Amino acid sequence: MALAEQHATTIREKQLLAADGCLLNLNPHARTNNLISQDVVMATLEVAFLHDQLEERKRRLQEAITLSPQQTGLARLLHEVDSALDRMAKGTYGICDECHLSIEQDRLLADPLICYCLDHLTNSQRNALQLDLDLAAQVQRNLLPEVGLHTEGWRTAFHYSPVGPVSGDYCDLIQADGNLFFALGDVSGKGVSASMLMAQLHALFRTLTRMALPLGQIVAGANRVFCESALAGHYATLICGHAKPTGEVEIHNAGHWPAIVVGHGGVLRVESTGLPLGMFCDAEFATTRLHLDPGDMLFLYTDGLTEARSADDEYGADRVTALVRQQFGRPPADVIEASLQDLRTFSHGPLLDDLTLMSIQRSS
Ligand SMILES: [Zn+2]
Repeated sequence: MALAEQHATTIREKQLLAADGCLLNLNPHARTNNLISQDVVMATLEVAFLHDQLEERKRRLQEAITLSPQQTGLARLLHEVDSALDRMAKGTYGICDECHLSIEQDRLLADPLICYCLDHLTNSQRNALQLDLDLAAQVQRNLLPEVGLHTEGWRTAFHYSPVGPVSGDYCDLIQADGNLFFALGDVSGKGVSASMLMAQLHALFRTLTRMALPLGQIVAGANRVFCESALAGHYATLICGHAKPTGEVEIHNAGHWPAIVVGHGGVLRVESTGLPLGMFCDAEFATTRLHLDPGDMLFLYTDGLTEARSADDEYGADRVTALVRQQFGRPPADVIEASLQDLRTFSHGPLLDDLTLMSIQRSS
């Protein structure tokens, strides 16, 4: 997918982004408004973080220049660092030199020296960014679980479609010691930074499930590490579970959309019992325990489904529930396909958000 589509940012969207506490008016001393929102405090923390980063780079550059003064590239970099620090002092940091609107926050965090928004990159900068996105997309595709994974007692299917080259959705199915672990999540934010956090969540969950810990400890551990390593303001909703060959299922829903369980006994929604990962280091996560009979099914999804829109309506969780109930008894891949078909019928146009669906059925 073309870069322009991934980062289609209109002026109106940028104004909204700026209003939402993006890095506009970054100088903490320049603010006189008493109503400092959480977003602005977050931005202040990020500016403080970037400021420290720049000072550290400046110190290292000065050391390197002393050691090899003939390297002219180092002096140019030092000049760029100085000018970024100067913009911070003046309160103009994070504003595009060309259009004077705010530069995308995740890009500044990745490269604090940039002076232009995505709409005003040079061709060579644009090409370099496209290469980065292609690489990130390739990394992300390699993290997806095995298609049609079949474990003792369980059959699975999933659908994963980023709206741009990369996605902040996390989708995983792991077979460990005869058990099935499943996870589906949604990292806040968009673009490469969200996709890198998704990769981090993937690594955490994969590592912790192999340690044969109770699921509650896996989620609490993943939360702590995610909390300590993610940038301020980034978090992830996550629904994950442990399915045993006997049909016992343990589910943790940390701030995610409800899982839908459909069986001979009717329909059940497993609602969130906790906050998203990355918000509080010491959060606790409650467990929901279920028993699924052969043929019973579990359906998970991200907001790319529930928040999809038609001309005048939102898809919503009730429609997901109705569809899954209607599909009861069909194989997991068919349920995914029926769900996609229903979404296409509902929304007509192209998808506007990352979409991930997962269907898990107890086999006999
Ligand atoms: Zn611009």
